[in-house]
Amino acid sequence: MNEQEFGFETQAIRTQLERTQYLEHSVPLYLTSSFVFEDAEDMRASFADEKDRNIYSRYSNPNNNEFVEKICKMEGAESGFAFASGMAAVYSTLAALLNSGDHVVSAGSVFGATHSLFVNYFPKWGIETTYFDIDKPETIESCIKPNTKILFAESPTNPAVDIIDLDVLGAIAKKHNLILIIDNCFATPYLQQPIKWGAHLVVHSATKLIDGQGRVLGGITVGNADLIKKIYLFSRLTGPSLSPFNAWVLSKSLETLAIRLDRHCENAMKVAEFLEKNPNVNTVKYPFLKSHPQYAIAQKQMKAGGNIVAFEIKGGLEAGRAFLDKIKLCSLSPNLGDTRTIVTHPASTTHSKLSVEERLKVSITDGLVRVSVGLETVEDVIADLEQALS
Ligand SMILES: *Cc1c(COP(=O)(O)O)cnc(C)c1O
Repeated sequence: MNEQEFGFETQAIRTQLERTQYLEHSVPLYLTSSFVFEDAEDMRASFADEKDRNIYSRYSNPNNNEFVEKICKMEGAESGFAFASGMAAVYSTLAALLNSGDHVVSAGSVFGATHSLFVNYFPKWGIETTYFDIDKPETIESCIKPNTKILFAESPTNPAVDIIDLDVLGAIAKKHNLILIIDNCFATPYLQQPIKWGAHLVVHSATKLIDGQGRVLGGITVGNADLIKKIYLFSRLTGPSLSPFNAWVLSKSLETLAIRLDRHCENAMKVAEFLEKNPNVNTVKYPFLKSHPQYAIAQKQMKAGGNIVAFEIKGGLEAGRAFLDKIKLCSLSPNLGDTRTIVTHPASTTHSKLSVEERLKVSITDGLVRVSVGLETVEDVIADLEQALS
């Protein structure tokens, strides 16, 4: 059977490094900072990039190579590079491709640290960013300038679970010759493959659902081979590479991504349906609930709704804080995409430094609660949320 015809789960499980002479079944861990050369000529040719081989683990390592190859197959990408964290992936990707004087158009709702890069750091190097309103995709083109190079977005967004039409972004990027970068962290390649919709690069925080068990940090960028080459050359020099140990953990995690996501999504749907009926809840946002404003787009581009449910508790800021204090089973933690259900209240925590107006621009109301639904018995999770809401 042609390898290309294998299904998603088979690729996730059977994409594996060649066996060593020990004929191990499960892939070994290559904890080595460097690799050896046969002779002077081998070493010369390797450093001249005439050979495709491992030299030093800041550049590449077998465990990292396996992790990258798997994600490439899952995302339908040509090539990739693995990073120490999701932010290392976001930063290195942008820094490798942008020059002083370039301009970025980004969705206003992006991960907080990405927002800080755009607003507090890139201007130091002469790179400006214009945010578009994700509720008004018709305004995206008016943000584009002659020096715009990159179009950047996440879908679903964090923490408000808004959905952006990737097909629309792909068409705009093509028309204006922009590099479209999608942060696919909330969906994972199992639920959504942005390259199909015209993305040139896909970035991930592997810390979240790819690890799925709250153990290690990691990140990855995959996509167009010419762009990845630039990102690789920048990264092998600047050193944000993923540790081989974490690559080994993450590659193992991918073997169960599909089956974990099926249950995450099933549990999240049940939690969303419960919240919709609860009298102390104003609104619930989950991509696969019919009431979601972008339900039709979610249905078009996602296989299922993901594991994040956002809801607005009645009573605003204080009710949000009181809800967190009453939680017993679920965790209060900044992570997401874990086996353990996690609840957060962005207005009083992650987004407390923003003004009310700034928060509202990215759909964060005072009573917004984000639930990262885990893999516990869902009735136990719902019972905890119910008692904390009462
Ligand atoms: C967590 C997250 C990141 C950053 O990833 P780290 O692994 O924490 O550095 C980037 N984008 C999104 C959407 C995230 O949720």
